[in-house]
Amino acid sequence: MAAQIIDGEAVAAQVTTKLKEEVAQLKAKGVQPRLSAVIATDNKGARIYASNQAKTCQEIGLAYDLCELPPTSTEAEVIQAIQKLNADPKVSGIIIQMPLPDGVDARRLQMMIAPGKDVEGMNPANQGRVVYAPQPFYRKPKAGEPGFDNWLEASLNWPLPAPAPCTPSGAMMLIRSLKQDLYGKEAVVVGHSEIVGKPMGLLLVAHFCTTTWCHIATRDLAAHTRQADILCVGAGKAGLIKGDMIKPGAIVIDIGINRIPEVGADGKPVLNDKGKPKMKTVGDVDFDKAKEVAGWITPVPGGVGPMTVAMLLRNTVEAAKAQAK
Ligand code: NAD
Repeated sequence: MAAQIIDGEAVAAQVTTKLKEEVAQLKAKGVQPRLSAVIATDNKGARIYASNQAKTCQEIGLAYDLCELPPTSTEAEVIQAIQKLNADPKVSGIIIQMPLPDGVDARRLQMMIAPGKDVEGMNPANQGRVVYAPQPFYRKPKAGEPGFDNWLEASLNWPLPAPAPCTPSGAMMLIRSLKQDLYGKEAVVVGHSEIVGKPMGLLLVAHFCTTTWCHIATRDLAAHTRQADILCVGAGKAGLIKGDMIKPGAIVIDIGINRIPEVGADGKPVLNDKGKPKMKTVGDVDFDKAKEVAGWITPVPGGVGPMTVAMLLRNTVEAAKAQAK
C-alpha cells in the first residue's frame, strides 16, 4: 500500500498560525520580537534568501532587519557586529547568512551569539538543551499508574527545547503530527552533523525511541535502516536510501536537499531555455520506490524544509518571550 505523504507545508502553517497569535499577544504587552540577520556578502542567492526570510517574518508580525557588513569584513569585524546585536535589547534573535567572507569561520561566529538569541540553536548551550529535553517519566506508566490513561497525547506534547536546532526540531514535530506512540520504537538517523543528525537522534531518544546513528563509517547501512520504524535521513546524498532499505510501514523523514539534473523519458538530461541541464531538488531517499514501502514519508521539497523555517520563527518568538520575563 502506498505511504501517506506527510505535508510539511500544512504542519508548518499550523505552527505559524499559532505563532502569529503569540506575537500579537507579545505586541499587546509592548514587546516586538525581532530577528536580525548578519549578512556580509553580495551573493545574489543569499540576498534572495534574506528577502524571503523578511517576508516570512512579516507574515507573523516579527520585525526583521539586516545587519549589513562589507564582503571584505574580517572575522573580528563580524564578531563585533554580533556583540552589538547581543547587547541590543530590541533584538530577540540573531542569524548569520551564508556565505561568509573568506577566512571567517561560521562555527566560531555561532559560538559568539548569546545563547538566548541563538535562534538557529547551534550554540553549545542550546545543543545542551536538546540533551536535557524534557522527558517527564522514567518509563511509560503501567495500567493504573498516573500518566497511563493520557500517555499518547501527553508524550506527543512534552515541551520541545527552544532555542534548539531548527531542522531536527521541525522533523520531530512532523513525526509527532502522525500521532503514533513512539515509546520503544526503533529509530535510525542517517547523518551525525551538529545541525541535523546528532540533535535529531537526541530528540528521538527523548521520546523513548531506541536510537541508532549511522554515518559515513557505518559498515552496512541497509542492515540498520531495514530495522527502523522511524528513519530520518540527513546525509546530502541523492538516492542513498533505496526502497528495499526501508521497513514496510516505517515513518520516513527525508531531511536531505540535493540539486540534480532532471532526466527526460528518453533517459537524457532535460535542458532549460539557456541550453543548460534543468535542475531539480530531491532528498536522500528514492521517493518513488520508498513510498511503495513506507507507511508515511516526507516529500522533498515540501516536507522538512518548511518546518525548518517555522522552527526558526518559533525559536525567535520563544527567545522574545524569555527576554521579556
Ligand atoms: P553534513 O555534510 O554536515 O553531514 C552529512 C552526514 O551524512 C555526516 O554525518 C556523514 O557522515 C553522513 N553521510 C554522508 N555520506 C553517507 C553515506 N554514504 N552513508 C551514511 N552516512 C553518510 O550535512 P548536514 O549539514 O548535516 O546536512 C545533511 C543534509 O540535510 C544536506 O542535504 C542538507 O542540505 C540537508 N539539510 C536540510 C535542511 C532542511 O531544512 N530540510 C536543513 C539543514 C540541512
